[in-house]
Amino acid sequence: MTKGNVQDLCAGARVLILGGTSLARALATLLGREGYAVTTSLAGRTRDPLLPDGAVRIGGFGGARGLADYLVAHRVDVLVDATHPFAARMSANAHEAARATGTPVARLAPAPWPVDPDWMMVPDMASAARSLPPGARVLLTIGRQEIGAFVARTDCSFVARMIEQPEMPLPGWTLVLGRGPFATDTEQALAEAHAITHLVTKNAGGPWPAKLEMARAQRLAVIVVQRPQLPDVETVGTPQALLEWLAGLAPYSRK
Ligand code: NAP
Repeated sequence: MTKGNVQDLCAGARVLILGGTSLARALATLLGREGYAVTTSLAGRTRDPLLPDGAVRIGGFGGARGLADYLVAHRVDVLVDATHPFAARMSANAHEAARATGTPVARLAPAPWPVDPDWMMVPDMASAARSLPPGARVLLTIGRQEIGAFVARTDCSFVARMIEQPEMPLPGWTLVLGRGPFATDTEQALAEAHAITHLVTKNAGGPWPAKLEMARAQRLAVIVVQRPQLPDVETVGTPQALLEWLAGLAPYSRK
């Protein structure tokens, strides 16, 4: 089949992207350019989100059932779960709703970072918090939703970086608001200014981030939270690979 034929078959197919990530934004741009009718869904967590190209809807669906209703009501041809690898609830809902409605689904997620033998790997935030030795001076780069796991560790000091102000008060903590990617010298300056001894991060994957480069250079202890178990669905690592998967599905059975 020629590329022209594939485009003809795909043109106008309705794709719902579960987004909130840079990969999801890149995918929305690519699919829009290829003639797909793309809607990206955002959870609505951030007040000032980076908006993707194409249509956007914001807010939860009301569980797997609500998402299934949405897929039927909006005659979605294909569902793409491009949420963050730690958005486990949404990924489970996507899988269940796709199965219930017979909608093809794939996940777009970056490959995890290869594990450095010097890292301490932990299964969740509670374990990360327990792993810190008393007196640790910690750079926390885990976002704001799971920060609560660390508040009981009043024997440690925390510099927490996140995109927006957290709702919970964090007395005695230093908050650094910002959206990545960051440069290695900025990370270095931050770590030096606060005499950081430990870095805590999720294994988000994707391009090797400056914080890990900095931690290696400064010989910080690194605690990495492993990815949660996600449903077993077709998974690709790049928007281009997702486009190829989509082309392989055509022609779509119109709902
Ligand atoms: P989660 O715990 O897996 O999901 C909790 C609930 O939030 C879901 O059940 C769903 O509500 C709603 N939701 C999540 N993602 C949604 C989306 N893209 N569109 C509509 N509703 C969504 O998710 P999370 O970890 O809070 O992540 C929320 C969003 O932030 C996601 O879009 C994710 O890609 C992005 N994000 C997360 C992280 C992270 O570390 N977790 C990092 C960067 C970006 P209903 O059940 O009502 O549908």
